[in-house]
Amino acid sequence: MSSDPECGTECREALEQLELLLDGELPAERVDEVREHLTACYPCTDRATFEEQLRAIVRRECVEHAPDSLVERIQVRLSDSASEG
Ligand SMILES: [Zn+2]
Repeated sequence: MSSDPECGTECREALEQLELLLDGELPAERVDEVREHLTACYPCTDRATFEEQLRAIVRRECVEHAPDSLVERIQVRLSDSASEG
């Protein structure tokens, strides 16, 4: 449970639409809405950056090979970025 009043339904919707955005399935008029929210909301900016990086890693790795260790490597990346500032 989060007690952060800034992060509620709006964030959840923004993050749901972010997934569509990254898949290229979000209508242009909604892209602006999501981008606007991401600009104003730091937790969502952080999340969006992570999602984009994660997808880039998965996409790149899957083109060449999809080893079992992939998940492990992503988790390492995760904890790396989590421990940064
Ligand atoms: Zn947010």
